[in-house]
Amino acid sequence: MPPITDNTVHKTEKKSHFFLLLNTIGTKSISGGIGIIIDSKNDKKPRSFTEFLFSDNLIVFCIILKIYFFMITLIFKIFKNVFFSIFLFVNISIADNSRLTLNEILPGIFLYSGKNVQPNSLNQGSIANKIAVEGEKYILVFDTGPSKKFAKKFINELRKFSKKPIKYVVISHRHFDHAFGIEAYIEEKSIIFMDKNEFNYFKKEGPAINKLLINNLGFDRDNINFDSINKEKITFIVNNTEIDLGNRKILIKNLGRAHTLGDIVSYDYKTNTYLTGDLIFTGRAAAFSDADIPLWIEAIEKKLDKPWKFIIPGHGEIIKNTSKIKDTKSWLYFIDKAIKKSALQGDMISEIFEYSIPHDIQHLKMKKLTLRQGLKRQMYLYKKKYIE
Ligand SMILES: [Zn+2]
Repeated sequence: MPPITDNTVHKTEKKSHFFLLLNTIGTKSISGGIGIIIDSKNDKKPRSFTEFLFSDNLIVFCIILKIYFFMITLIFKIFKNVFFSIFLFVNISIADNSRLTLNEILPGIFLYSGKNVQPNSLNQGSIANKIAVEGEKYILVFDTGPSKKFAKKFINELRKFSKKPIKYVVISHRHFDHAFGIEAYIEEKSIIFMDKNEFNYFKKEGPAINKLLINNLGFDRDNINFDSINKEKITFIVNNTEIDLGNRKILIKNLGRAHTLGDIVSYDYKTNTYLTGDLIFTGRAAAFSDADIPLWIEAIEKKLDKPWKFIIPGHGEIIKNTSKIKDTKSWLYFIDKAIKKSALQGDMISEIFEYSIPHDIQHLKMKKLTLRQGLKRQMYLYKKKYIE
């Protein structure tokens, strides 16, 4: 601390580096450089040491506090950014490396259980159920999943249970969450069953839908390559056929128009189990944009004519008694009635959202979203086919 004498107190235009630094970071309150001990009202009058100590040092102290605050805020911001980058990276890594789980839910039936959620960049569309059935010689896979990558993971996981060849693959319908893993099974040289109309639409609409999945939902760019998929690699199934996996017969049946233009189901005689694809949903509202709703209701009521003990639906939990089929049937009744009512009353789509939802389907997930996706198209189809 310099001694306070007349000789040491003089006004200087030269400002210290410290002062300039303070100005740079926005400190406007200091008047004068550090070390200038003058009275602001009277330049000639030196101030007392006490005044200097408690006034100027207080200002310096406040400035130092402000610098500390600035530094702490800066460090906090850097820390926050680093933390979120790590979080994002870990999340992506988890999504990417997450092993897919298969459970043997019935003897020789392995299930990947999709969650009733919307497709997004983390789940990459793996929201539907996929099943493998093992006989003494061969394996049948029912539905391929949303991408080649998913199908490869499914096969890797399946290999922990069985090394038998995947001789047959059934693609229940064309929707991405069931069909876009097809390439992995073309590489396996499996016999792939699909409905012909569904395959044609899959080839026609598929690339545009894939683009939407990539651009809007953040799916991987190498999801699927439609160029490598042609009709020579598909066995079209018109009515039904029976295959033998080695002491295990499976019926593969095309139910025709229902959820899509051609819904294919399979029936395992050994465990009396139906694999239905999206003919049946549990726990969530069934997607109906590509459906013929009256024919769909009829298919559920009349075409699951084998004595079944279990139904593995396209989405949701395995069904062990008929009451659970109501999740799909009651939902379809509701939509059927709602569309007819709206046509009769001249109601708009927004007004259908106001219709009261029956008690037995109130528990279903994703009702609003599913209505939003399907109503416009269905109103058009109903007008053409069932109303006019
Ligand atoms: Zn579907």
